[in-house]
Amino acid sequence: MRAVIYTRVSSDPNNLGRSVDEQEADCRAVCQREGWQVVRVFSDNDRSASRYAKKERPQYQALRAYLEGGKADVLVMWEGSRAQRDLEAYLSLRNLCARDGIGYSYSGKLYDLTRTDDRFTTGLDALLAEREADVTRDRVMRAVRANAAAGKPHGRLLYGYRRVYGDTGQYVAQVIHEEHAEVIREAARRVASGEPCRSIALDFNRRGIPTPRGGEKGWSLSQIGRMVQNPGYIGKRVYLGKIVGDADWPPLLDAETYAVCRSILTDPRRKTQRDTAVRHLLSGPALCDVCDSRLRVQKNRTHYGYVCAERFCVSVKTTVLEQFVVAVLMGRLSRPDALDLLAPPEDRGAVERAREEVKQKRARLTEWYAAAARDEITPTGLAAIERTLLAEIDDAEQRAEHIEVPPLVRNLVGPAVEQRWERLTIGQRREVVSLLLELRVGKTYRGARSLDPARLGNSRWRGDSQTWAERGLV
Ligand SMILES: [Zn+2]
Repeated sequence: MRAVIYTRVSSDPNNLGRSVDEQEADCRAVCQREGWQVVRVFSDNDRSASRYAKKERPQYQALRAYLEGGKADVLVMWEGSRAQRDLEAYLSLRNLCARDGIGYSYSGKLYDLTRTDDRFTTGLDALLAEREADVTRDRVMRAVRANAAAGKPHGRLLYGYRRVYGDTGQYVAQVIHEEHAEVIREAARRVASGEPCRSIALDFNRRGIPTPRGGEKGWSLSQIGRMVQNPGYIGKRVYLGKIVGDADWPPLLDAETYAVCRSILTDPRRKTQRDTAVRHLLSGPALCDVCDSRLRVQKNRTHYGYVCAERFCVSVKTTVLEQFVVAVLMGRLSRPDALDLLAPPEDRGAVERAREEVKQKRARLTEWYAAAARDEITPTGLAAIERTLLAEIDDAEQRAEHIEVPPLVRNLVGPAVEQRWERLTIGQRREVVSLLLELRVGKTYRGARSLDPARLGNSRWRGDSQTWAERGLV
């Protein structure tokens, strides 16, 4: 009989199975004992046969073609799981061998797959092999989570870093790639100072700075935005899109710049601002006090006016409203206690508490990961705990990030604020207004020609519980 041998080893470093050479030697011994002539050996090294495996097994495909070509009478393997850990693959191989009368041999036994008993035995082995693969996968998933909890990197390398490996190829550390890191730092600095992602992307492309994955297309604005908000850059480990703890690599951005980038880029008001024309200071931040719609700029017969975009409840001349609002804003920012006003002490207390909460919940999550790694809770149990805790951590983190004074505003406060304001671009000025004001414009009184400040009475400083009217500002 003509025998074909198939050997395979997976990449599992702890695999206690035999090497392909040892497997082949065993199979050859079986062939010699049975008096079979070995006509061909197929071998897949470093391949997994489970249904979770992503790699193709080229030699396995070649083996099937070889058998289908009628070039062998018996298939010899070291054990059943060498060929497949997947029932579908087993069935297709079984049908092939049964149809063409090819013998099926593993663990030193020969099976005739047209016989009921042999189909049962080999089928059962295939079932067991599949279960083993599932168990292995669960184990690997637990290891991935434990790595995540321990802050170790997993998967694709984060742009801005490089990995250091030891002599035997094991992971040692993830360290900063200085040249790439400078690109990230520059982008973050510019985003934090209020520059739009689009202009940063254009500038990077003009300077020919390569993108993280190379490529011809160059930087896009969404890429800049995603990059400066990646928690990996402040040394946080992310698992399934959530921060799960501190990473074992050094942060590349300082936490403050990062928080400012995030608060600017995740601000829900931002989208509206991008959609409207940039030349008007208050279209976007300003709301109609009657119906909560945004105000947009419209041209009347004689002048431009901010008008309630939905129902036309209110209308006010652009220059009049802008002059008034800027005057109030400058008054606020030139006060010696301006910075304190931006972040009131009671809010600082809340931020501290939120930070502490984040720390404690992360620690608890880490303990759960450790428990899962020791098999004390099931993966399903862990997933449920993870979901709850990660949602709570997310919530606390948002509270912790809330009150940061962006550099754009911080650099503005102090005497002679008007001169610094004049130097800002219109985009930066809008950013300042959005960060500091909740501007609400009330109804026009019949016959009123100039702006009655009382119409802005329901406006307030962002984060302040009292309105401008209550503070006696208008
Ligand atoms: Zn309205």
